[in-house]
Amino acid sequence: MTTSQARVIVADSGSKRIPAQEIFSPRSSDSWTHTRAGDPRGYIETPALKELWIHTGSACNLACPFCLEGSSPGDTRIPLVKLDEITPFLHEAVELGVQQFSFTGGEPFVNRDFVKILSAASALRPCFVLSNGTQALLGRAKQIEPLRDSAHPIRFRISLDYPDIAKHDAGRGEGSFVESLQGIRFLRDLGFEVSIARQMLPDEDAQAVEDAFHALFREHGIEERLPFTVFPDFGLPGSEDGSPEVTETCMLKYPTQQSREHFMCTYTRMLVKRDSGVRVFACTLVDDDPGYDLGGTLAESLQPRIMLRHHRCFACYRFGASCSAP
Ligand code: SF4
Repeated sequence: MTTSQARVIVADSGSKRIPAQEIFSPRSSDSWTHTRAGDPRGYIETPALKELWIHTGSACNLACPFCLEGSSPGDTRIPLVKLDEITPFLHEAVELGVQQFSFTGGEPFVNRDFVKILSAASALRPCFVLSNGTQALLGRAKQIEPLRDSAHPIRFRISLDYPDIAKHDAGRGEGSFVESLQGIRFLRDLGFEVSIARQMLPDEDAQAVEDAFHALFREHGIEERLPFTVFPDFGLPGSEDGSPEVTETCMLKYPTQQSREHFMCTYTRMLVKRDSGVRVFACTLVDDDPGYDLGGTLAESLQPRIMLRHHRCFACYRFGASCSAP
C-alpha cells in the first residue's frame, strides 16, 4: 500500500476469524456465478448506498513494493480523475441518500484537482481521506487549511505501517515515517480527526504493537489515543493468492446477518476512471477485475448481486471487513 493503505479492508484488532479449513475447493475466476467445483458462489446484495468511494488515480509520491494498488510516481494504471468527471456522481449519490464520500489512491494529494474535489464533496457530505501523510499532503498545506471550514467534517486516515521507524521506512522510503508524523500533527493542529492505518503482523500481540505506537507518538509530541485500523496483506493488483472460494453455503453457514452488513459491497461503491470514462465498481478492493465494473451510474450499479469471486473477497469473509471508520 502506498498512501494506500489504500483502500483496504480491514479488521479491528479483535476481529473474530472464520476458520479457513472449513472451505475446501480452490478459488477459480472462470465463472462469475459458480466455483470450479460447480457450487453456487456466495454473493452480497446492496440495499442502499451509504458511502461512495472515489479513486483519485493510482499515481503516488511513494513506491512501496507491497502496495495493493501497485502505485508509484507517475503510475497511470488508473488515471487521475478530475472534478468535472466526478461532480455528476456526487449529486447522484446525494439523491440516493449517501452519507459519506471517501477517497483513496494512489496518494490523493498527488492529484492536482484533489483539493477542489474534496472541497466540493465536503460541501455536500462528511468526507474521509486515506493518505500517506507525507510530502504530497504537506506540500498542499495552504490549500488544505480552508477545508476546516467546510460545511461537513473531513476525517483523515494516515498510513503508519509499523511502530518501528526503520521497518516502516524500509518499505516506504527513508524519512517517510517522520514526514507522516508531521502530516498528522499538521492535520490535528487544524482540528481534523485523524486515525492510523497499520499493517497486521502474523500472530501479533495487537496491544503490544499499539503500545509501541503510543510510545513513538509521545516521543514525537503527538496525542496517543488516535484510533487504529489494521490491514492484512491483500496482494498486488491482478495477483491471485490461492485463497479458497466463498460458496453460497459458506455465506449461509458462517457470517451472521450483522457481519454480512460489514462487507463493503453491502453499502459502498467506488468510482474508477477508465479510458471510457468514470465507471462504478463494487468496492475499493476489486478495481483490477472488470467483472466488478457495475456500470456508468450509481443507480445501475446497485442492481446486480455481487458475486464473491475475487480473491480479496475471501479476506472480507474471513476477517470481517469494513474499510470505513475509524
Ligand atoms: S472484496 Fe469482494 S466481498 Fe469484499 S467488499 Fe469487495 S466485492 Fe465485497
